[in-house]
Amino acid sequence: MEKPNDTNFITNTIDKDNSTKKFGGRVHTRFPPEPNGYLHIGHAKSICLNFEIAKKYNGKCNLRFDDTNPEKESEEYINSIKRDVAWLEYNWDEIHFASDYFNELYTYAIELIKNNYAYIDSSSAEEIKKLRGTLTEPGINSKDRNRPTEESLRIFEEMRNGNYEEGEYVLRLKIDMSSSNINMRDPVIYRIKKIRHHRTGNDWQIYPLYDFTHCISDAQENITHSLCTLEFEDHRELYDWIIEKIQHKNKPQQIEFARLMLENNVMSKRKLAELIESKNVDGWDDPRMPTISGLRRRGFTPNSIKDFCSRIGVTKKNSFIEMGVLENTIREELNLSAERVMGVLDPLKVTISNYPKDEEEVVKAPNNPSNKNSYRNINISREVYIDRSDFMEIPEKKYFRLSPGKEVRLRHAFNITCQKVIKNAKGDITELDCTYDSESRDINKGNKVKGMIHWVNAKDCIDVQINLYDRLFTEANPKGLESFNEDSLVEKNNAKIENNVNIDNYDKRYQFERVGYFIRDKKSKDNIIIYNQIVSLKDTWKNKKG
Ligand code: ATP
Ligand code: MG
Repeated sequence: MEKPNDTNFITNTIDKDNSTKKFGGRVHTRFPPEPNGYLHIGHAKSICLNFEIAKKYNGKCNLRFDDTNPEKESEEYINSIKRDVAWLEYNWDEIHFASDYFNELYTYAIELIKNNYAYIDSSSAEEIKKLRGTLTEPGINSKDRNRPTEESLRIFEEMRNGNYEEGEYVLRLKIDMSSSNINMRDPVIYRIKKIRHHRTGNDWQIYPLYDFTHCISDAQENITHSLCTLEFEDHRELYDWIIEKIQHKNKPQQIEFARLMLENNVMSKRKLAELIESKNVDGWDDPRMPTISGLRRRGFTPNSIKDFCSRIGVTKKNSFIEMGVLENTIREELNLSAERVMGVLDPLKVTISNYPKDEEEVVKAPNNPSNKNSYRNINISREVYIDRSDFMEIPEKKYFRLSPGKEVRLRHAFNITCQKVIKNAKGDITELDCTYDSESRDINKGNKVKGMIHWVNAKDCIDVQINLYDRLFTEANPKGLESFNEDSLVEKNNAKIENNVNIDNYDKRYQFERVGYFIRDKKSKDNIIIYNQIVSLKDTWKNKKG
């Protein structure tokens, strides 16, 4: 199993840099989210990578908010990001905001204009796009490319002072319109935006673009290895160009790795926001969302997410990961740690007619198979509930659970035989009449039966709602909301669970035997007790599909 702190192509590069003392043997990484949404599992990959590498090399890792698009960003997002990183148990060494560098960035831009490396262009966004050329055709110089330095300096200052409307002017680097790398064809680095910024208020009427901001922010923080996803590979030339031309003393090394893509999911804040706006889900922390806050509410542990990031490893090749890989990490963890109880999703009443009225007994059941000495007591009496799915009036072949005349074992208790099926006027099954074999309390004395089903004691079970979750999208690589999985949430409103469940403990994860792993929903309202299914006992997605 590869871990981010094991060796990979990035640690190989760092080892080489350390051996040549390229950064004096220092390692300083950063996680640079834009606060325009909540973090998702893809960000978790980047968080684990950056923080684990810092840990491995006794280095540092910063949290930096890349906050240069004020219209999409907010304090709420900043706070959620801090919370999520902290929940993953990572401590940043320094916290920074790209907006803290607005003055320095502005000063560097002026330097570039003075040195004939940047100019003010009055071309519209469409013109700039049209003249940029294509992969096979070079771009064409803008009519403003040779604007005198003094004029560019004056207009840039006037832009800053708010003398112009949005789109009237931009500041562009003067590199090479015929470069084979389109990113080098005089990229725009500043545009006018008359928008209040959540941190700098109305101080700025112009905002720097990502490519200009990011490399300089890295250099300002003396980052050694700037890890980013593959789509920035073509931007590295520009990154290096800017650092060189502003003659910054620090020269961070950008290294690209493959983005995490999860099947049956979308992995971009913009697309996740669409799910919320369209009301398909009930917010960023909806337990179906691949967000860190959604996974937390669903019942995933920080450890399971970090374990997942270890398992998928770090490579330079984009590929989809099945949801089953993520689910397996939490399933394996909870198999070892979760206490066992019983719960029925769709209760069907069973009356054990030969069980003495007004009597009750206690059966013992293990809390967790990995601890042989820990038991719980469960009451059982004349009336119990079983799951409707464990009964079939006309059993199909190889159906070993309950059916008329058939004997099965009530887990941890004794054997029952179905004597009679009771129906209402509409013909729906409302109750089963069964008898029990009192001898079978000793499993060796009763008949050997193939079916073993779970149950709850009618008298003292707890009424709850159970939410079952499944893939967000039916398609492995969803193109849009069309393939939203309408069955991604199934609410079981009449569920009943064993009274050994501590409903006041919102962090405790249980295995409902034969069903899956569950945790109390932190957002339950109207006094309804809701339990979220973290993950089922087995992955059934493939069977359902095929
Ligand atoms: P989104 O499309 O979700 O907004 P982004 O890349 O624009 O993604 P940022 O907030 O800019 O989001 O990302 C912060 C860091 O997380 C960046 O270094 C980015 O490369 C990394 N990152 C984002 N998505 C993924 C992913 N799916 N897998 C790995 N790293 C990712
Ligand atoms: Mg983004």
